[in-house]
Amino acid sequence: MNIVYLSSEAVPFAKTGGLADVCGTLPSRVAAMGHRTAVIMPAFRSVRHAEVEVETTDDSFAVSMSPNKLVGCRLLTGRLPEGDVPVWFLDQPQYFDRDSLYGTPNGDYPDNAERFAFFCRAALLAIERIGWSVDIVHCNDWQSGLVPALMAAQQRRWMKKAATIFTIHNLAYQGQFSKEAFRWTGLDWKHFNHNEFEYYDQLNYLKTGIVTADAVTTVSPRYSEEIRTQNHGCGLDGVLESVADRLTGITNGIDRNIWNPSSDKKLTANYDVENWREGKQLNKAAIQQRYDLEVNNEIPLIGLVGRLADQKGWDLILPVLRWHLSENRPIQWIVLGSGDPRYEQELRDLREQFPGRFALHIGFSDELAHRIEASSDIFLMPSHYEPCGLNQLYSLRYGAVPVVTPTGGLADTVTDCDKQSIADGTATGFHIRRLDPNALDEAIGRALHIRYHQPSIWDQIVTTGMSQDWSWKKSAEQYTSLYAKTLALKTQPK
Ligand code: ADP
Repeated sequence: MNIVYLSSEAVPFAKTGGLADVCGTLPSRVAAMGHRTAVIMPAFRSVRHAEVEVETTDDSFAVSMSPNKLVGCRLLTGRLPEGDVPVWFLDQPQYFDRDSLYGTPNGDYPDNAERFAFFCRAALLAIERIGWSVDIVHCNDWQSGLVPALMAAQQRRWMKKAATIFTIHNLAYQGQFSKEAFRWTGLDWKHFNHNEFEYYDQLNYLKTGIVTADAVTTVSPRYSEEIRTQNHGCGLDGVLESVADRLTGITNGIDRNIWNPSSDKKLTANYDVENWREGKQLNKAAIQQRYDLEVNNEIPLIGLVGRLADQKGWDLILPVLRWHLSENRPIQWIVLGSGDPRYEQELRDLREQFPGRFALHIGFSDELAHRIEASSDIFLMPSHYEPCGLNQLYSLRYGAVPVVTPTGGLADTVTDCDKQSIADGTATGFHIRRLDPNALDEAIGRALHIRYHQPSIWDQIVTTGMSQDWSWKKSAEQYTSLYAKTLALKTQPK
């Protein structure tokens, strides 16, 4: 099959979250199974600063955004670091050559509807110029959500043949705009109806992708069920229920070459499942030294990496962190993250108040993310919801025992430590029983109790997690069988 991935993010070119990890890796894994794959994404400013070379081509074209607005687009090309996967970047500096991908700390860019309508429309023109006979167009998140609907409305020959897959990486980000934004699609207003682009008299990119794609996926089976309930449906539970027969969940994998404690060059010391105690101790000592924490392997280190967004449970984390620090508990914390200025400020205040007990890095640092996984005893993810989550998978691999909310992908990938799971050797972490700070503290307490009083069980938990295989192999197989099935349904005579 010939498969084109449309995404606004892909490592190593542009990243704000897990979407980038998926779209930078899955195409290589699918290519390794004998298919032809390519990625199309915007030429954001970060693309030109990536460690992988990007070349300008002399291929350019124009998109008619409105009767008197013709916007040019130049194709740039690069390759994913692994496999022979071309990446086509849509270069339009006015839209994409900006400091950030989607907005400033004060809010989204006001022209996001226009920017990503342009991305969707230019991507379809780019596919035609690349000249492949495309079988699958795999769209990801709201930024490419208009594509299946545009293909259905435009009905070019190749569009009628190709099947569309739409993957929801996070239902909370929907790209919803006032209906005036519909004009950027270039389509007749007859298409502004609830089976295509319209959602309660607004334009909703994510909903459009859901109702018009041939198949819809989310990034874990549990999340695919949760989003059909009012609690987790973000207003789209009814829409998702209506496509339940073509909605599935495929758990993300991790790149086991990049996230491998035995060869990771970002670490102070490499280690594997045989010698993790010594390895983690060396990494922990380096972090303790670097952040002026007491260098002592007996003090547990709790790690956190992630966006400072409500989703990630900072309303639970911050009170617990404050208790630990103010009660002078013998526990150290290290936090890496950026995002909501309120949380950034509160974390900075805590660091000022409690120097030497709490290490903080506000910002984005891939290197430190790896080092935190390698040095932490416990890794926290008390998310309110989690479509899949990657950090808990990295934590399992690096022997940082995850303490998680049993929701979405966290529920699917972390097995709670209890009598049964200890007995059958499946325990890999700790579940938080309720979404409140006391319950988080209680779960940390359970983990620490086992770490200090039942070290052989702790060993078992760490080694079970480190030995699990969350690689892309299985996920890539599931995606390719979905592609084949969807394509067969699309092309079978009606
Ligand atoms: P989400 O996609 O909701 O942000 P995931 O756990 O699926 O959450 O993926 C987050 C990815 O982004 C992981 O690879 C994580 O290591 C990375 N990440 C998040 N914040 C930071 C940061 N401040 N510095 C480095 N990496 C980060």
